[in-house]
Amino acid sequence: MIATINPSTGQTLRTFEPHSAQAVEEKVSLASRTFRSYRETPFAERAGMLRKAAEILESEKCEFGTLMTTEMGKTVTSAIAEAEKCALGCRYYADHGEQLLADEVVATNASRSFVHFQPLGTVLAVMPWNFPFWQVFRFAAPALMAGNTGLLKHASNVPQCALAIEDILHRAGFPKGAFQTLLVEANQVDALLADERIVAATLTGSEPAGRSVARASGNQIKKTVLELGGSDPFIVMPSADFEEAVSTAVKARVINNGQSCIAAKRFIVAGGIYDNFEKRFAERMKTLKVGDPMAADTDVGPLATGKIRDELHDQVERAVAAGARLLLGGRKIDGPGYFYEPTVLADVPRSSPVFHEEFFGPVAMIFRAHDASEAIDIANDSPFGLGSSVWTRDDAERSKFIDGIEAGQVFVNGMVVSDPRLPFGGVKRSGYGRELGVWGIREFVNVKTVWCK
Ligand code: NAP
Repeated sequence: MIATINPSTGQTLRTFEPHSAQAVEEKVSLASRTFRSYRETPFAERAGMLRKAAEILESEKCEFGTLMTTEMGKTVTSAIAEAEKCALGCRYYADHGEQLLADEVVATNASRSFVHFQPLGTVLAVMPWNFPFWQVFRFAAPALMAGNTGLLKHASNVPQCALAIEDILHRAGFPKGAFQTLLVEANQVDALLADERIVAATLTGSEPAGRSVARASGNQIKKTVLELGGSDPFIVMPSADFEEAVSTAVKARVINNGQSCIAAKRFIVAGGIYDNFEKRFAERMKTLKVGDPMAADTDVGPLATGKIRDELHDQVERAVAAGARLLLGGRKIDGPGYFYEPTVLADVPRSSPVFHEEFFGPVAMIFRAHDASEAIDIANDSPFGLGSSVWTRDDAERSKFIDGIEAGQVFVNGMVVSDPRLPFGGVKRSGYGRELGVWGIREFVNVKTVWCK
């Protein structure tokens, strides 16, 4: 069902009929036709529209923030910050897009040879609900700046966010066919990927969805970018600033009500500081205020859907059954909405299946390591490789972690965040390809070699 269901109350506020086959056909056709003219627009014009989109995002950030919170439950403070971040992303590509796609001269035996970047065409973006604006803008801003057109299949629980984003981009001046929302269900994605007018796809979401989109795109030899799950390690060494590490650890676990791909999920603590870390971390998690995400002092709102909460609770129960120690929480909170207690598990056995799973909610796993080598070994014992955070003030240790951790990102003495200037993506089952920075804008372009004599 494509619907707005408020996760704080469980109430269905609005339902949407999926677009008819004819409506989808018209939108795909419009996207494809628009590409032919839109690709000719000068960079300066595209940049002007992105700047206008940034202005709209900023001036209406409270309305957009409330909409995000209503549809998926993140705290309204973080939702407003998300709208601001989208504006930042639009401005980054408005300011730098032309330069990032400028011809690159390469000296060869030709009289002149260079690399020329051209847009690919219409790209399908299949997006998740957890950052309902940012995930879309970090695809849309570079894709539109490069001259592509976009079609959005957003998660079924955030249809109003999807429509609001389409509206923002149209109000900013982008032609109607440059960016459109398709209200379709997941089972319609394969048919879209089989359509030759759609030339590439990007998916942010779970591993099964990524596998499905990669399979369908592979059948058609279409380029894909996949940003999938993560179970990021957060490693604390004895040389670290302990207090800062503990407070950042809590923030990094419960950001977005614990539902972030790059949230710290496995806390690996080395040497003699382990016991103190375990105690202090659990104490801090206990003080978090769980409740109404519209209230300014709420730390953790509800999970986005009842199904996500049920799955999370099942994981906690399986971890405890496998021998983990439950230090805090571990229960659904009674009453309306999909609230879950901040939870801390220690000693989840590495042999148990749940050790290798992603916990998408406010549940932390803590592990003891003897030294940096064992910390890296535990960190890498995961099917995922998205982000990682390491806390150390020792130069040799820092180098060892930077080289040794299997992840797309290593943050030293800080929590993992996305930044429009830096590449974002993972290795292993966290996906492939990169978003953001120069790497993001070059994913959906033809890297054309030009050789002239
Ligand atoms: P999800 O179920 O995979 O949904 C993501 C999107 O994929 C939705 O639009 C969904 O549509 C669609 N979808 C689901 N199954 C599909 C299929 N078989 N074929 C085509 N499309 C399909 O993921 P989620 O549970 O909403 O999101 C959480 C996951 O996303 C977590 O694993 C998280 O770590 C990951 N994530 C990764 C990043 C990153 O940048 N690496 C960022 C955020 C989230 P419906 O809603 O209609 O089912």
